[in-house]
Amino acid sequence: MLHARLEPVYDNVVQRNRGETEFHQAVREVLESIGPVIDKHPEYADQKIIERICEPERQITFRVPWEDDRGEVHINRGFRVEFNSALGPYKGGLRFHPSVYQGIVKFLGFEQIFKNALTGLPIGGGKGGSDFDPKGRSDREIMRFCQSFMTELHRHIGEYIDVPAGDIGVGGREIGYLFGQYKRITNRYESGVLTGKHLSFGGARVRTEATGYGCAFFVQEMLAARGESFEGKQVVVSGSGNVAIYTMEKVHQLGGTVVACSDSSGYVHDENGIDVELVKQLKEVERTRIAAYAERRPGAKFVSDRSVWEVPCQVAMPSATQNELGADDATALIANGCIAVGEGANMPTTPEAVRNFQEAGVAFGPGKAANAGGVATSALEMQQNASRDSWSFEFTEQRLEQIMKDVHARCYATAEEYGMPGNYVAGANINGFTNVADAMLRLGLI
Ligand code: GLU
Repeated sequence: MLHARLEPVYDNVVQRNRGETEFHQAVREVLESIGPVIDKHPEYADQKIIERICEPERQITFRVPWEDDRGEVHINRGFRVEFNSALGPYKGGLRFHPSVYQGIVKFLGFEQIFKNALTGLPIGGGKGGSDFDPKGRSDREIMRFCQSFMTELHRHIGEYIDVPAGDIGVGGREIGYLFGQYKRITNRYESGVLTGKHLSFGGARVRTEATGYGCAFFVQEMLAARGESFEGKQVVVSGSGNVAIYTMEKVHQLGGTVVACSDSSGYVHDENGIDVELVKQLKEVERTRIAAYAERRPGAKFVSDRSVWEVPCQVAMPSATQNELGADDATALIANGCIAVGEGANMPTTPEAVRNFQEAGVAFGPGKAANAGGVATSALEMQQNASRDSWSFEFTEQRLEQIMKDVHARCYATAEEYGMPGNYVAGANINGFTNVADAMLRLGLI
């Protein structure tokens, strides 16, 4: 429930951002956590810090015209929401998916502010993307789209201004085309303008693996706080994209067994443990459906059009997309003995499902904390670019692991401080919020 001073703030957000339901949901989740902070620090409310945080500093919408391989012209819409730069340049990914509209970009940008603050690194929050659907598009079409997208975006970004990266539908290939076009238009080799670059032109080791690895490290910390570990645990990971793949890889290294993963057409169940190399081959090289996994892997079965959360597990790691795990899924997971949930995707669990988990005493790591390893490693990439350095895999992975331990410790300690022990949602929201709010107070009314 909302604090009396926050109720009108939320109503105003809904009023002024009509129809942007995902954005409303993300705002409400943060506001529900920060009531106790307002009691302790009324100056945040007096200075209208919350109203200011809910209003993006700048929102850019633009036309992206491009031509497909048959010569047909297409018009997509491009977005960049520069949400908050109190802690550093705007930082956050680009999402290419047909569901993208202002409300999705704003929910992602809003969450990004607090996630980035939680890493302890000097990065503000932003997000962007397009309603472009990369599915089934040729490499040349992807390139032409990226070039057209950057032809407009280049005037809004920069190493000290706004630093985009990947998200759903945007990986190393797309970042390459985007950086190539940025470099050509601006005539500047400005490595720090984008992260998630290939190693051959200023990318950082471990960035590809970082979100998934980081999420596994975070869950390991949550389990350790309860005297548990991944050893011998059955794990279900939804999705089969970048986050899911490297989550599975790290869970296996940490002693767990991932028994199922999915895509939008269904899930594969493999009791012997998912063969992560096969998933990489199918998704990163062949760019095909997860159903092909069951055709090539003896003993595995493909189940179409059903929820992957019906597969029994002790640890669930939703790593596909927003609102993919609902109240019924949570009930099924709890009944099957699930003790920990780590969100690899952004806001994959619905508010009702989060409540179900918390009431059942399941350790619940929200995306803002659990998936912060991706953007944290982007900040490490910026650091290497700024110093024209290149770190080893081992060193970078150690940095990532330490960052995730620190993120966990901050959430844990903040939840205790505010009298909600074990509540990582409150811990993440309060810690992220106060970091940004303190900087904003000191920066004056801007
Ligand atoms: N899209 C990722 C996220 O949700 C990474 C953003 C970045 O590296 O800037 O945090």
